Amino acid sequence: MADPGVQASIHKNLKTTLPRISNFISSNRFREVNLVGRLYPDSRPISLSHWALPGGEGAWQDWVFDDVIKQEFTPVKIGDSFGPTWTTHWFKLEFEIPEEWIGKEVRIRWGTNSEATVWSHDGHVLQGLSTGDPDAKRPDYPITRSYEGQAGPQVFYIEMAANKLLGASSGDQIDPPDPNLMFTLSLAEIAMLDSTVYQLTHDLEVLYQLANELIPDQRGYQAMYTANQMVNSIIAGDDSGATALAEQYFAKGNGARCHTLASIGNCHLDTAWLWPYSETKRKVARSFASQLKIMENYPEHIFVASQAQQWAWCKEYCPELYGRVKEQVAAGKFLPVGSTWIEMDGNIPSGESFVRQFFFGQKFYQQELGMICKEFWLPDTFGYSAQIPGLMKHVGLERFLTQKMSWSLVNKFPHHNFIWEGIDGSSVLAHFPPGDSYHMNLTVEEALWTEKNLQDKGRTGISAFLFGFGDGGGGPTQDMMERRRRLADTDGCPKMEMMTPDQMFERLESEKHNFCRWVGELFLELHNGTYTTQAAMKRLCRKVEFALRDAEFYLSMAVGLLGISVTSPLLQQSLADLEISWKKVLLNQFHDVIPGSSIEIVYPQAEELYNEALLTATSVRDEAIKAIFGDTVTTSHVVVNSLQWSRDEVLKLPVGTVKPGAVTQKIQDGAEEYVLVSAPSMGYSLVEAGTPPFPVTVNEVDNVFVLDNGIVQAEITSTGQLISLKVAADDRDVFRHTDGTQLFGNQVTIFDDEPLYWDAWDVMDYHLETPEVVNAKDSTYSITPVTIVESGPLLVKLRWGVELSKSSSFTQEIELAAASHYLSFSTSVSWHEDHKILKTVFDTGIQTNKANFDIQFGHLQRPTHMNTSWDTARYEVCGHKWADISEPDWGFAILNESKYGWMARGHQLSLSLLRSPKAPDYTADMKDHSFKYAVMPHKGTLQEAQVVRRAYEFNNPLLKFDLPLDVTFEDSWVSVEGDGAVLHTIKPADDGSGDIIIRMFESHGCKSKITVKLSIAVASVKESNGMEASGVDVPFSEEGGITLIPVSLTPFSIKGLRLAPGTATSVLQ
Ligand SMILES: [Zn+2]
Repeated sequence: MADPGVQASIHKNLKTTLPRISNFISSNRFREVNLVGRLYPDSRPISLSHWALPGGEGAWQDWVFDDVIKQEFTPVKIGDSFGPTWTTHWFKLEFEIPEEWIGKEVRIRWGTNSEATVWSHDGHVLQGLSTGDPDAKRPDYPITRSYEGQAGPQVFYIEMAANKLLGASSGDQIDPPDPNLMFTLSLAEIAMLDSTVYQLTHDLEVLYQLANELIPDQRGYQAMYTANQMVNSIIAGDDSGATALAEQYFAKGNGARCHTLASIGNCHLDTAWLWPYSETKRKVARSFASQLKIMENYPEHIFVASQAQQWAWCKEYCPELYGRVKEQVAAGKFLPVGSTWIEMDGNIPSGESFVRQFFFGQKFYQQELGMICKEFWLPDTFGYSAQIPGLMKHVGLERFLTQKMSWSLVNKFPHHNFIWEGIDGSSVLAHFPPGDSYHMNLTVEEALWTEKNLQDKGRTGISAFLFGFGDGGGGPTQDMMERRRRLADTDGCPKMEMMTPDQMFERLESEKHNFCRWVGELFLELHNGTYTTQAAMKRLCRKVEFALRDAEFYLSMAVGLLGISVTSPLLQQSLADLEISWKKVLLNQFHDVIPGSSIEIVYPQAEELYNEALLTATSVRDEAIKAIFGDTVTTSHVVVNSLQWSRDEVLKLPVGTVKPGAVTQKIQDGAEEYVLVSAPSMGYSLVEAGTPPFPVTVNEVDNVFVLDNGIVQAEITSTGQLISLKVAADDRDVFRHTDGTQLFGNQVTIFDDEPLYWDAWDVMDYHLETPEVVNAKDSTYSITPVTIVESGPLLVKLRWGVELSKSSSFTQEIELAAASHYLSFSTSVSWHEDHKILKTVFDTGIQTNKANFDIQFGHLQRPTHMNTSWDTARYEVCGHKWADISEPDWGFAILNESKYGWMARGHQLSLSLLRSPKAPDYTADMKDHSFKYAVMPHKGTLQEAQVVRRAYEFNNPLLKFDLPLDVTFEDSWVSVEGDGAVLHTIKPADDGSGDIIIRMFESHGCKSKITVKLSIAVASVKESNGMEASGVDVPFSEEGGITLIPVSLTPFSIKGLRLAPGTATSVLQ
């Protein structure tokens, strides 16, 4: 028995003592004599056979375990290789545990340099494996902690996925996958683990870390001397003496002043990234099963899993595992976190998409687990919209967690704990784990760094410490659990206390009076190329968001307002179909899919999901419209309008749609003609050709094309540049400087776009130094000059084009329609470039130092100057349907229907159109693209000029239907008296009750009082929210068959109403 007291090493020499300890627990060196070499004192080979599942990526989804094991397995051996990339290989493992191992821990040790799943002989998912350098994160499976003997022949299965933890690149992590990766079987055995050695290894490991971090502090020296003495003791054959030394050291607890790290196990699992969705489904099973396995022996373990979609996949693909997960949910150990369907991008999804992320996430947790989450958990997203606090409040959440702001390239965010205030004034408690990571390995270094890095010292005594392998899933390991036990309460290190997010946030809430306030967006100064990369993802997202909006609106009209029965299949089936469609859209909003940072294989699959959702939304809309208009004998042409204001718009209709003699404009192909049509707010009108108050004209004077529709006047050069843009009868020109200098708009500009590393993600500040305007007057590019394609009176169209390079071309149709407030640019690009970004740039004469950008349910003002490093870093920013720069009484807006990347600098406003990164998808955006944008000069403020309405119209044109119809000329089902509020969403309640949910927002940043008018009787109106709850009664009245609901809104507030159709005494049955 060694002396239990701490013995200093003979020589006070750090340079020898610390390496001595390190070598004694090295996995690579001195294994013949050190402690790690004693971990597995005995092992046996396994009898192995193999079956290759036919097919490649995702093929495993067609097979169930019972069929797999009936296949013909053939013998294989160490050294054999399996692949290629994304294929699946099943191994049958047969062995007997030697009887001399009774009482010992027995493990399967495995090596294929890949991910894999251990299955029991009867089809239970037991644990994930992740093996090989550098991914040896979970290289073995503990069969039993203490072998009881007489077990007889054992059979296990291992399902090998031919990919690594982080995908399948053979070079750098973000290189595109290597399609020909092969995986070699390097280890397959059962082994007896010496549990005393295992414990001593971790004692020494943690003491070594403490010594390394704390010396020259006294406690660090104590750790070193203790560890050194333990080594002496172990060499002398006294393991128990060494254990006693370690216990004595770790027993010295922390004082009350010590910071607490809320240790929360997690496995940030990217729903797709360097692997496709199909692999994530298996990664969920591996990660979840691995955590259940740890819980068997570490009852203190708390594991949180976000993204309801991943839980749903577990239920669908591994129901037996899912049942065991639910048992641990009930025990309070395995917890859902985050509230959302997936961890979405924080910038691009619409306001309504955000609401549905929460709604369908919480709905799943409520239905499946009988609980909902209390926090919004989004650790890894590339910036956070300034409306998120308002959206969180709208769905009943007040706690937010992320860590990504630590990635900002220029400025260090000044808080880890703060009150975050959004554009509507809503405040939530925000926490950033001060370790600036969500995949801590649970080391002393990380724990000390977390405490040291905390920006709010003195204001809080607790911080989150999120540990467990992440990105590719996995989560905590047994080794991490061992280290945490030793660091739970040890002098010299922060307390590592396992707790739930709820417990942590409760502690933070008790201290929130100490926290500072941050107002506005959380702008990540990195990854700003993700507003533009993979253009189709953005275009389809916007398109489907509007299609779903329309589908829900017309379905509401059919069901709630026009008397379709609540039991009708139209309602119930449509609700079910729309939920499926929404979930496809929400899935694609994952924070590596919609930003464009996933590998190539992800994108065709995501496009298919978007297109399916689009098809369903269109079909629900059409069925609802048919239902509204009934089955009558006459056929009529109708235009429908799902926006809350009346509109005049030029549509392209088949010749003969309107009566002869009306004002129309024949199109060159002869089959269609332009017609000016009108529609009332949220309603319909029979198609009747209107007469434009001012016919659109185009004149060419000296190679300049002058367009005028009585609202907008524009002058365009032969190379497609704008040199004049005015509101009619106003002499202020967007493209004249105050001193009269000529300025240019629609400068089609290519910049070099070579990031430092994160290719698909980043557009760096220095790209701005390399502009090349391709359509300048003296351009050397091959330009097809402007020609007049349509010349009025309803629509003027010009066309021009330019060869961007030998392989890329750009064609644009510039249109001005009668009654339109904007000039639009329909653009087609065949894009085949390397590391270039394409923008359209507008140098304006507007004197301002701020710009406004459309965001979720509101807009955000940002400076256009570069006064501070914070302003300078915002050179590429996110905006949705429009951006505007204005003086107080006039200004200029750009509208778009599929773009999100903007720059506003000085008097310049530009819209990013396409990028060409090569990693992780070498083919990103290398194809044909079509998109539109528009420019709108305006008098007055953007609010007075109704820029918000114009942008909605640009994204949501009037629709024409041929319907059996026998009704009045037109009808408006819903309208709004008063300005500022936008009824964005009108939808049937998700519960199928026939109630109608109205979600509106104040769009001008002003207080407003409005009255919502509906041509329907309602039994009740209640306050509601994003969860569609019924709140307090809202007063309403009825006047001549119209229901009037007065509503007050504060700036940018989001408001929900829940209407029960029917009369005041009888709710619709
Ligand atoms: Zn992530």
